[in-house]
Amino acid sequence: QGVLFSEVRRPRGLMVFVNPQSGRGQAMALYNSHIQRMLTEADIPHKLFITERQKHAQDLVKSADLTQWDALVILSGDGLLFEVVNGLMERPDWEKAIQTPLGILPGGSGNALAASVHHYTGEPPVWGEDLLTSCGFVLCKGLISKLDLISIRLSSGARVFSFLSLAWGFVADVDIESEQFRQIGPMRFLLSTLLRIASLRIYQGKLAFLPAENECESDTACFSTTDSRLPDHLLVPLEQPVPQDWTLLEEREFVLVLAMFQSHLGEDLLAAPDARVDDGIIHLFYVTAGISRITLLRLFRAMQYGTHMDCGCANLVYRRVRALRLEPLSEAGVITVDGEQVEYGPIQAQVHKGVARLISA
Ligand code: ADP
Ligand code: MG
Repeated sequence: QGVLFSEVRRPRGLMVFVNPQSGRGQAMALYNSHIQRMLTEADIPHKLFITERQKHAQDLVKSADLTQWDALVILSGDGLLFEVVNGLMERPDWEKAIQTPLGILPGGSGNALAASVHHYTGEPPVWGEDLLTSCGFVLCKGLISKLDLISIRLSSGARVFSFLSLAWGFVADVDIESEQFRQIGPMRFLLSTLLRIASLRIYQGKLAFLPAENECESDTACFSTTDSRLPDHLLVPLEQPVPQDWTLLEEREFVLVLAMFQSHLGEDLLAAPDARVDDGIIHLFYVTAGISRITLLRLFRAMQYGTHMDCGCANLVYRRVRALRLEPLSEAGVITVDGEQVEYGPIQAQVHKGVARLISA
């Protein structure tokens, strides 16, 4: 795909965003102990941008002169990259801006993209500071891949762009509830998972999707709005029924719905082992009601090794899709995109293959 640093021109440098509050609040310490030295040794100029509040990185990215930088690098969790991606897409020159290479260094508690980037290197799994070092090497090498973005439409008409995941039910609840345990780092997800299994809930809703094998060239459902960014040619407005070639599930009772766009859901959760950075696929998992607590626990343990599909669990379904629509029927609840809570209600999404760029193996 390309390289970030070439022999023939002087590097312009990296814009490095650090969220000092992410994870256990250790991102600055990780910069000082690892990243600064790695970048200096590799002779890669960079400038630190320390975020002071939510949306700070998003605002910086919206107004930055991108011609001055080779790449935007995030030392934080996935949440800060979500801001950066959406900041790029909110620019008038979004089409060019979104092609700015992005780099991820795990500094938060939800480091799923960093774990995915490491997984794509083919090396055995690592965690914590070893994952940081691995992603540091990937960054210094500077190989650039295309990256899928998923366009997500919310019922208010708002639109966000996602690179990682869309979750409802068990996984979304765990993600948000675990915020209170962020002092314990990535372990926060394990603790919340155990608590949630103890008080297991059923979620009512409708799920529909376009299987990847059904998509044909003539698909032009076409969502017409004033928004000209990345037209969602597979979607129709939420008020209309889904197109004919979609699958509409009979099931109405779920324990979770999880759409994965990269391999990892968390640092040690290999949810979609076959996912690749620009495969153009939404890896859709759902678990229907009726699963026992012990089986659900077994699934999450197997997910550490990516072997959950081998558990023979009839309640767990995996589909490769290009677009999906979810209509929760219960009045209140949580939906997350890339681990960040979004408005609750009907939601739909479609993949846009390889429209962004990521520094990856
Ligand atoms: P983690 O993986 O630990 O959750 P994230 O990178 O996902 O780390 O960041 C979590 C949230 O922190 C994001 O929603 C981001 O907007 C917000 N944020 C960024 N900078 C700051 C800051 N200086 N103070 C508080 N929150 C911040
Ligand atoms: Mg986060």
